[in-house]
Amino acid sequence: MKKLILCIGAILLLICCKNTKDVTTTVAKTEEVSSVKNNETTAGINKVIIKQHLYTLAADDMEGRKPGTAGIEKAAKYIENEFKRIGLKTYNNLPDYRQNFEHDNIKMFNVIGVLEGKSKKDEYVIVSAHYDHLGVMNPGEGDRIYNGANDDASGVSGVLALAEYFKAKNENERSIVFVAFTAEEMGLIGSKHFGKDIDASKFVAGINLELIGKEPKTGPKTAWLTGFDRSDFGKIIQKNLEGTGYKLYPDPYPKFNLFFRSDNASLAKLGVPSHTFSTTPIDIDADYHKVSDEAEGLDVGVLTETVKAVAKGTESIINGKDTPTRVVIE
Ligand SMILES: [Zn+2]
Repeated sequence: MKKLILCIGAILLLICCKNTKDVTTTVAKTEEVSSVKNNETTAGINKVIIKQHLYTLAADDMEGRKPGTAGIEKAAKYIENEFKRIGLKTYNNLPDYRQNFEHDNIKMFNVIGVLEGKSKKDEYVIVSAHYDHLGVMNPGEGDRIYNGANDDASGVSGVLALAEYFKAKNENERSIVFVAFTAEEMGLIGSKHFGKDIDASKFVAGINLELIGKEPKTGPKTAWLTGFDRSDFGKIIQKNLEGTGYKLYPDPYPKFNLFFRSDNASLAKLGVPSHTFSTTPIDIDADYHKVSDEAEGLDVGVLTETVKAVAKGTESIINGKDTPTRVVIE
């Protein structure tokens, strides 16, 4: 009997020890996860989530995100769900995140979410990228899908990451309007529509992201800005990036006229200091507007670093301390 009790005791002790070990392991794992989470919260911008945005938006089942297709509808739903998860409000009097309109008999919509400002609610900073792309090539052999990973799933991933970052930070004195523009590839249609009814004087800056998933010729931890000399927006960013190791340069390809070739132009034409950040060596890029523009060809590290630099670089504009000079188009 005594032996049996001892034996049961030993078994219980073993089970107990095993559980303790399990508990210890579980605690250690939880600590590990929460420390990762803390780092992510401090840095605010998370590579894992950015990768998820990129790979989702550039997936084959989005069918190249051409306006009027089921593919772009799917992409829009993803963006809307993210805006909702992050906790953004709708824009103006819109009942949901979509700004619907028709162009050439195609039903289109920009996807817009708002983070209201604290003390300067009526001053807007727009953070944008286009979520449309070129669709699918005519039937034939091989890859037919224009995934548009760099152009511009990379930029939309950045917009979503910045929305999450600024929402969590909760320090924006100005209102931030996050926009995924449609039909950029058809001639900046979505951003032109957005610009139609706005009071441009309330828009203090435009931050547009295009092709931010490849390392530029200026090297790692650098990006360039279109229309650098058209306002002092770029100089404000440079000042805010001092000491971070990240550098912003003027657009190295003035001949390509890039300032007027992305959605920033639709607002710049109204006087808004609205510029595009980019990183891609566009003069030699083999994937630009090709079916080979796939997520696997991008560097998520470059994308993440750039989004972080945009967050840090635009801080004094978001918190109302700096107001860039207006753009004058002659
Ligand atoms: Zn583009």
